[in-house]
Amino acid sequence: MSSLLITNGRLVTLDEDNRFVEGGSVYIEDRTIVDVGDFAAAAYSPDRTIDADGRLVMPGLINAHHHLYSTFARGFRPPGPPARNFADNLRNLWWKLDSALESEDVYYSALLAVMDAARAGCTTIIDHHASPGCCDGSLDQVEQAFRDVGVSGCLCYEVSDRNIAGEGIEENERFIRKCQEADDTQISAMFGLHALMTLGTKTLERCAEIGQAPDIGFHVHAAEDAIDVQMTSERYGKGLMDRFLEFGIPGPKTIFVHGTHLEPQEMDLLHSTDSMLVSNPESNMNNGLRVSPVLDMLRHGVTVGIGTDGMSSHLISQARAMYLHQRTDHRDPTLAFAEACEILLQNNRAICNRLFDEPRGALIPGQLADIVIHDYVPFTPLNADTFYGHLLFGLSFSRVRTTIARGRVIVDDGYLPQLDEAAIRANCSERAAAIWARIH
Ligand SMILES: [Zn+2]
Repeated sequence: MSSLLITNGRLVTLDEDNRFVEGGSVYIEDRTIVDVGDFAAAAYSPDRTIDADGRLVMPGLINAHHHLYSTFARGFRPPGPPARNFADNLRNLWWKLDSALESEDVYYSALLAVMDAARAGCTTIIDHHASPGCCDGSLDQVEQAFRDVGVSGCLCYEVSDRNIAGEGIEENERFIRKCQEADDTQISAMFGLHALMTLGTKTLERCAEIGQAPDIGFHVHAAEDAIDVQMTSERYGKGLMDRFLEFGIPGPKTIFVHGTHLEPQEMDLLHSTDSMLVSNPESNMNNGLRVSPVLDMLRHGVTVGIGTDGMSSHLISQARAMYLHQRTDHRDPTLAFAEACEILLQNNRAICNRLFDEPRGALIPGQLADIVIHDYVPFTPLNADTFYGHLLFGLSFSRVRTTIARGRVIVDDGYLPQLDEAAIRANCSERAAAIWARIH
């Protein structure tokens, strides 16, 4: 059994009492937190001791919606005229890029992004994958990237009818069964769907039949842009959430992503079905979409989380974007600061804890040892009243010194010691050039 001790940290526990401990320690055995507080270091004989030297220590962050396959899009300009709207952007960029990925590209795109996430203090990622050129077995490639870095992942394949009717159904089914049979706690599975605008009735019926197995939720984009709402209304004469409800998609383990065009009664339906909604403000801004009504959703009792949607693997910047976006939209400097932080720290934890067996997201004995030491020594008071200010104005720009995921040090003084990063990056450069060449 391995053991690890962190000493001399400024602990932000995010526990029920929201404790802040000066000069605090955390003791870990295997992948579980055993002790937290101001106990004497001599109480334990760990394999390794990390002196945090006054730096801020907090639970690892959780990304509630990512697209790891988007990694090789960085700097890429799609062929043809620039996208004029959301649908153009899907057709011209994302559907060309994901179709150009080969099996090993899937592994490397996930690997680079998960490495970036670890270095930004993220220890759990809920991913939404697509690679139509190599659909079968692609989730195994993504899984391997998670195992090689050491971060926890909840994976799914985005089913759509855009190429072949029901593409991806079998991959979801296979991977869900694999996770259930493996009795593994690092990787879990959901049933992925793209969005109603690319899913016909027959496909939804098949997905509903398979995905409604016990303990499985759906992970699906909903009302990201008006076109999703409009196409559903024109084809089926229904609102989005009514259409989802027809197939039994909503529920406590289902994640709807975006919801920027949801009506108040649809927010009530999210609440009454105990479904989850993940907002992605930087992505919405990038696509020139409507500002997501996250404050309305919170008022309707919806469990709102936050993700990066492939824009980056940096979560604190998303929380910054969320509150700035809301204040700009409402022309109100009093709004959304605490809400954005609570969505990131509390709601993402609640979402994650519905999808994984091991509880995480707080420095409490018994929790999964997902812990981050930021290279950040606060120079103004750090307590329950000031922490969100430190989070959004300090930690958002500070480097992560140490990331511990599942009890293992995966980022050590800013580096990932278990991986040959130079070789990985060189390999990825070659792969990116080949992928881009296949699209042009
Ligand atoms: Zn997305």
